Amino acid sequence: MRDRSTRSALVRAVHLGGARTRAELAEDLSLNRSTVKSLVDDLVADGLVTEHPSSGGGAGRPSLVVDPVASAAWVLSVDAAVDWVTFSAIGWGGTTLAEVEHERGAGRSPEELVERIVAATADLTARVGTSPRAVSVAVPGLVRSADGSVRVAPNLGWRDVPLGQSVGDAVGLACVVANESDLGVVAEHTRGCARGVDDVVYLFAEFGVGAGILSAGTLLGGSGGYAGEVGHMRATRRGRRCSCGSDGCWELSVGQEALRDALGLAGPARPAALARAIADIAARRGTLPDAYVEDLATGVCTIVTMVDPRAVVFGGLFADVLGVPSVMDHVRAAVNDCLVGRQQGVALHVSGLGRRISVIGAAELAFAQLLPRL
Ligand SMILES: [Zn+2]
Repeated sequence: MRDRSTRSALVRAVHLGGARTRAELAEDLSLNRSTVKSLVDDLVADGLVTEHPSSGGGAGRPSLVVDPVASAAWVLSVDAAVDWVTFSAIGWGGTTLAEVEHERGAGRSPEELVERIVAATADLTARVGTSPRAVSVAVPGLVRSADGSVRVAPNLGWRDVPLGQSVGDAVGLACVVANESDLGVVAEHTRGCARGVDDVVYLFAEFGVGAGILSAGTLLGGSGGYAGEVGHMRATRRGRRCSCGSDGCWELSVGQEALRDALGLAGPARPAALARAIADIAARRGTLPDAYVEDLATGVCTIVTMVDPRAVVFGGLFADVLGVPSVMDHVRAAVNDCLVGRQQGVALHVSGLGRRISVIGAAELAFAQLLPRL
């Protein structure tokens, strides 16, 4: 059996699992060894993998290790964040081949971003030695997945920007555009601490608070693309006016500015300063202020009850907050005490992907379309 879907399954297994022996691939994919051999021979002929003897000992003939050639199929993954833009050449198999990061400076227009992407494509092509197969862009805003147009990105000042079309035309490649929270959960699902878990919430705080939700392996978008805007669920009976125009939003209790206030800091709420303050206060007191932690736990329980995930991964400033053991203990106890937690347990993790989570997720979204064609 050497049909296209079998080749795709093997390509995907190598992409997600990295270098593995033919024997391991045969076992994982429930294929016989001769089928794996002929598929791998084709991939070697196409320049997509190399093979070398496994270094492990053991009796008998060693199985050859199948190793993806990252530069043979790579995507240009762009994180168009508010304060910086990262351009990353990520090869199949998940290897980062080259990466550059620019401060945003004053220019945040879509036209400027497209120009930078064109320049980065040339730069990274020269460095890697081969051309990218696709481009993917992470944007802090609402994106229509069908055509990659940005409906609104408040922190960039964008509205109705046909970014996918503009980038695709400019570089002559397929371009996928997605929201950073969706990409967060994609990254955790493929390369992070929720690998292989199909029901996951990625919950993060940066400028705002948001969530990417994977339900039965599918990204949850909602009818208008607003699913996951958990920072704006009404969490208090009366509160200050939120930037979204509503009143009493959860973000006002647990977001960046609320965290600054809870920690007793003055001035603008900057992530690096907040992370330092969290570490400092946790070291001195062993925990963070009770009211903040309780509001956080309440919201997490609401989300868990609504979504019924197997795992929740905390990113951005929440990674710093939940990295304090006593805070994690408090939130975990609250989750274990709510209906879903009592019934089946929900794993809580702190993201280990850091600031690169968006480029990793964006690359994986592009690979989801690219791999079946390799
Ligand atoms: Zn709001």
